[in-house]
Formats: sequence, C-alpha cells, structure tokens
Amino acid sequence: MAEFDVVIRGGMIIDGMRMPRFRGDVGISNGRIAKIGRLGSASGARVIDAGGMIVAPGFIDLHTHYDAQLFWDPYCSISSWHGVTSIVIGNCGFGFAPVRPDARERAMLTMTRVEAIPFAAMKAGMPWDWITFPEFLDSVERRPKAVNILPYMPVSPLLTWVMGLEEAKRRPPTEQEEREICRLLDEAMDAGACGWSAQRLDPNGPACVQRDFDGTPMVSDVMSDDTCLALARVLGRRNEGFIQMTLASADSQHDIQHFEKLAELSGRPVLYNVVQPRDNLPFVHRGTIAWLESCRQRGLRVYGQAVTADTGMAFTFENWNLFDECQAWCDATTGTSAERKAKLGDPSRRAALKSQVPFVITSEFDQIFITSVEREDLKEYEGLTLREAGERSGKHPVDAMLDISVADDLRSEFYAPGPNQNMDYMKEMLDCPYLIPGVSDGGAHTKFFTGGQYPTEFLERLVREHSMLSLEEAHWRLSALPAFCAGFRDRGLLREGAPADIVVYDFDQLHVEPMEIARDLPGGEWRRVRKASGYRCIMVNGQVTIEDDNQTGATPGRLLRHGAA
Ligand SMILES: [Zn+2]
Repeated sequence: MAEFDVVIRGGMIIDGMRMPRFRGDVGISNGRIAKIGRLGSASGARVIDAGGMIVAPGFIDLHTHYDAQLFWDPYCSISSWHGVTSIVIGNCGFGFAPVRPDARERAMLTMTRVEAIPFAAMKAGMPWDWITFPEFLDSVERRPKAVNILPYMPVSPLLTWVMGLEEAKRRPPTEQEEREICRLLDEAMDAGACGWSAQRLDPNGPACVQRDFDGTPMVSDVMSDDTCLALARVLGRRNEGFIQMTLASADSQHDIQHFEKLAELSGRPVLYNVVQPRDNLPFVHRGTIAWLESCRQRGLRVYGQAVTADTGMAFTFENWNLFDECQAWCDATTGTSAERKAKLGDPSRRAALKSQVPFVITSEFDQIFITSVEREDLKEYEGLTLREAGERSGKHPVDAMLDISVADDLRSEFYAPGPNQNMDYMKEMLDCPYLIPGVSDGGAHTKFFTGGQYPTEFLERLVREHSMLSLEEAHWRLSALPAFCAGFRDRGLLREGAPADIVVYDFDQLHVEPMEIARDLPGGEWRRVRKASGYRCIMVNGQVTIEDDNQTGATPGRLLRHGAA
C-alpha cells in the first residue's frame, strides 16, 4: 500500500502565499495535499518527477463566460490548458438561470452578440434541464468537469425573470418586484452562489461595446442604481459573497461614488472590471490605480481586474460586433450576413463610420492589419495595414477595409492589435497590489479573441521576459489573491489540507502557441484557440487533467457551493 496517492517529487515549490520558494516534495492523498517538504523514500501510487520544474497552486480565473460551453466541453478550454483549475461563471450579469422554458431561445440569442457565443453551438450543446437558479446549479453539479466552478447569480436573467425582458429594459422595478429580486438572490446564495455580477455600460456613454443581439443595451446596463444597492444589502446582511461589476471607466464621479457605496453597504469585496492601460490614454489607468489606493486607505474592499492578456482581435465582418459602442458601427454590423454586407457597402454610411474610432483598437483604424483575403485579385492587400492598403488604392483606411471586405463577401480577415502594448504602463499596473491578472473572458468572443491564455502569457511575458515581478508575487496574483477576493475557502495556495489543485511546469519552456482555428463546437461551429506548452502536469482535486500539455480525459472538477466542494 503506497503512502500517498501521488507524490510530486523534487520540484521548486512556490506556495502562492509569497513565501520564498524552496525545493521539496508534495504528497497527495484523497484529493488533498497531505504533506509538503522532504518526503524521502515515502511511496506514491504515482510519482511525478518535478526535477527542474515549478510546483505552484492552480490558477483561479474570476472572469469567464463558460456558462454554455461547460455543458459541451468539460475542460472549459482554453482555460484549463493554461493551468486554470477553478473558474467563476456568470460574469457581467449574464447567464442562463433563472430562465423559463419559453424564454430559452431569447436567452441564447442574447449571448450571441454580447459575448459572441454561436447560437448553433448553444442550441446543440445545452441540455436546458433547469428553470430556476438552484436547478441550474444542480445541473452544473451533475456534469463531468475538469475544472472547479464557482457561480455568480447574474442580474440580467434575474431581473428578466421578475419583470419580463421588455419591462426590465424600460423601467426600474416596483417595490414588490425589488423584494422578489432580493428574495431570489437570497435563494441563489442559499444554494451556493458566490455573489452577483453586472455589466453596467451606460447605453448613451462612450463604451457600450457589448450589446444584446438586436443592438439594444443589456438589462444590466439599464438597471437602476437603487436595484444594485438593494442587491448589495443582501450580501451585507448575509456577510457573504462578492460583487463583480463591469464599468466603462473609473473616471466618472457618479460611477465611483456608486461603486464605493456598493462596497460600503455590502462590506464585501467588489471587483472593478476592468483596468486596462491604453497606449494613448495613460491617465485612465493611473487614475484608477490612485482610486483603488484611496479605497484601501478608507478600508473599502475594492479590487481591480487588470487586463494583462494580449487583447489583439482577429475578425471578419461576417460576425464582428466589437465596434458596438459606436452607434454607426453597431447599426452597420447587425442583421444577417447579406444585410451587413449591404450596409457596410453603402456609401451613405461611410462618413459616420469614419468619424467614430472604436474603443477596442489601438488608437486609429490605420493600425489594423489585413491578415487574409479570399479573392485572388485582392491578394495584393494581404499583410498590409489599412493605412498601406489605403495608400495603394487611394482611399481612406476605413473605405479600404470595407471595400475589400464587401468585395470579398465579408470573408477577409483583419487583425486589430490590443490597446495595451506599452510595457511601462503594464508595469505601472502590476505595481498596484490589488489588481488581479486576466481577463480571459473564457468561452466568449471566441471567433475574435483567446484571453484564456493569460496565466501562461503572464508567466512567459511579464515574469520571464520582462522581469516585472517575482514568481512568488506572480503566483499570489494568479491564485491566492483571486481566491481570497471570490470567497474560495481553501484553494489558491499550496498548504497541507488544501485541495490538490496544482500546476507543475517548466518555467524556461512555458509558451503560448499561436492562434489557430478549432472546428470543435457543437452545431458545426468554430472558434479560435491558443494552446500551451511547458506544463508537465495540471492537477485538479488530486487528479491529473493535463499531462505534457494534453488533456487526460479526467473530470475531477467540482461545483464549489459556498466557495468549497
Ligand atoms: Zn464579461
């Protein structure tokens, strides 16, 4: 009889608590870490040689949208490929419960634009064996999973359930409706939710980039401040849970005051999304960091979700929707493919399209690349920026982009680099101790973007290449800090008694592979993915889910009700 189920032998242990690294062994029994240190000749049913490797806690991803994908992909890839062992779902106020049977199609349609999850994949891949939120949790619990899942109560389905979709978009709840909304939040928390979430992008503001499928704002965008405060009071009364909120920026006095009020009323951690340095607007992230510091001085539990991932976007106009904060672009990119093509080719729309520079790109249109075109006679434009294509054809860069796309039946592919290329700004952000790395947006926007690689990218680029922080600090940020913020009771660090969620990797070899297309979604749909290399193994609850960068097929993940299994 072996002494341990698994022994990870001879690795460099980084515990996630920022203690100095040390060389040692980890003994695992019954899914938990039984012993850390020198295990000598102690036997393991399985021994993993971690010589030359880092042994650290599995990563905790607080910002994902795997609410649909988890039903057809137990691995919640690409996150699990990159060392993530626990995820939080139901972000930004979006999700699929509670939803009545006759509202299921509409609930899925909503997610096709705001998070760009293909309708055919949801339709074919979701079992819909729930109506209420507690029933949804039971369904998630029954599914095989390779990651642990912590669920928010998302506010959009909650308000829609109580008020009806049209009313929830039009007016605040009555007193009676508000009582019912709060009662349902209580019910969700009783069932094990980790708190609640909301995207609140002012529909008339400059950054309302994620919209409903018809181009209208989301329910959460238009919900009233008072409803938010009522929901914050529920968590305060219970003294549990946390709040995630996506705002346009922390430079609106109204938004800041509201945010602080949520933290004050609830006494709970409130996660501000997102802090993103933009190369042409450094005062924005600097202002947010100063605000987070002032919250700390005043004892408010406000944390920032930082964008550390490369947010470059690849897209075709067949489905692109992330210029939506510009009304002219939103109007021109809704409808069927044929309708989009007609609108994008319409000369009378061009002046408006040229006058609005969308938020998601670096600074100007001309920095976008034309990565591929289908039509032979347009091949000369491949590899050019829009500026270069415009010069060649004697057109404005936007006309060049749209004329090529329309002539190519919207099949031309473009690449817009992310707005956070400046490494000095990245360092300023990482120097703020209350920022959590990300944002993966896992499961969302997968035809454009693959943020799930952020942990590998963080270690490869920011720690190894740019030496911005130590590995001890990096693992605290990637695991323990998010775990603490989200109310995980016993995860995010390596210590005896904790569940064995562990990554073993080769720091020198860790690498994010190039973007590729995977045709692996149900309903015949496709997505973009980026694989990882350098992970010797990734372990969830003591079982190996990834070995030498490949899925083992094991599904030891658990639903974490109340933050624990
Ligand atoms: Zn989100």
